[in-house]
Amino acid sequence: MLRLPVFSYLRPGSPVEATQMLADHGGRAKLVAGGTDLLPKMKRRQLAPEVLVAIGHLDALRQLEVSPSGAATLGAGTTLSQALRHPALREQQPGYLEAVRVVSTPALRNAGTVGGNLCVDTRCNYYDMTEEWRSAIGFCRKAGGEVCRVAASSPRCWAVSSSDTAPMAIALGATALLAGPDGMREVPVASLYADDGAAYLALAATEVLTALRLPASEGWRSAYQKLRRRASMDFPVASAAVALHLDGPVVDGCRIVLGAVASHPLEVPSAADLLVGGELDDDAIDRAATEAARLAKPLDNTDLSFPWRKRMVKVIVERAVRQAAGRA
Ligand SMILES: Cc1cc2nc3c(=O)[nH]c(=O)nc-3n(C[C@H](O)[C@H](O)[C@H](O)COP(=O)(O)OP(=O)(O)OC[C@H]3O[C@@H](n4cnc5c(N)ncnc54)[C@H](O)[C@@H]3O)c2cc1C
Ligand code: SF4
Repeated sequence: MLRLPVFSYLRPGSPVEATQMLADHGGRAKLVAGGTDLLPKMKRRQLAPEVLVAIGHLDALRQLEVSPSGAATLGAGTTLSQALRHPALREQQPGYLEAVRVVSTPALRNAGTVGGNLCVDTRCNYYDMTEEWRSAIGFCRKAGGEVCRVAASSPRCWAVSSSDTAPMAIALGATALLAGPDGMREVPVASLYADDGAAYLALAATEVLTALRLPASEGWRSAYQKLRRRASMDFPVASAAVALHLDGPVVDGCRIVLGAVASHPLEVPSAADLLVGGELDDDAIDRAATEAARLAKPLDNTDLSFPWRKRMVKVIVERAVRQAAGRA
């Protein structure tokens, strides 16, 4: 049995107090919300924070509001199951919930949170292993070593961004609210991420993601397609989030964001641009999906073969575009 390492558990009374606790403990502290990603990682000693700052109990982070226009604000501590059950959210933000619905399993969605899913760690076959396994071959860059087992000559880590909701939130044009020692700021969800499998979040170590804001759909339609070995529970090994705006038969707006094929959610504007301004016919969809697959850079560090995953990006982008247009 894998056991948790020893740590101190702090229970702040507000998000501001949580940021203060993070500041007080420097790099030795980490936030924990549902714990469904962090605690297994601690058991495998991928991470060993001395202090956990719990935020899952904070009412201020569990509010879920949907305005009459359809715009939604989800507190970062809202569980994925709470989001799925919310009637107004189901009506107004079906695209976001499509991605939420395929995160892990019902039991994990009961504990896992909106914020935790956006901040979930990157993944790699050489990293998501027990300490014994990793020490036997030597720790890699993401674990403080000096070599990457996937790309030996690379100066960086290529672990894979594996959040289901992040690509969808970016495709929908969502923003994130962050609390830090200097106050609040609101940023596009895309800017939460760095293109680095090890330091994958662009937040300051003292910042807490407090809410996700989804704009009103205003005629935008969306779809999410996820590739994984088992439909019952696995992380994505490639995914495609598409948001589309049609003026009659003509596409007048499109965003395509790929998941699990880079160290950050990968927006592919050059693929979306191949659809904008024209009718949504088979040739246009084929060209856009081909371009998206060209830009996807899956490596040999997740489940299933990486050349096949790259080819499948074309398939899932095609499916997502057709589904968003109501032609699945
Ligand atoms: C078997 C299994 C299958 C899974 N399958 C999937 C899957 O298919 N798709 C998927 O996306 N995920 C999957 N996950 C990962 C995880 O369950 C979800 O991503 C979940 O939503 C994480 O939320 P959490 O609240 O439990 O995060 P936690 O584990 O509490 O935290 C995750 C990370 O986010 C940070 N964090 C949490 N909240 C905040 C915040 N408010 N501000 C700043 N940082 C924060 C933590 O410090 C930590 O680094 C799976 C996990 C398991 C164990
Ligand atoms: S990509 Fe390389 S450095 Fe990053 S976790 Fe995998 S083996 Fe380690």
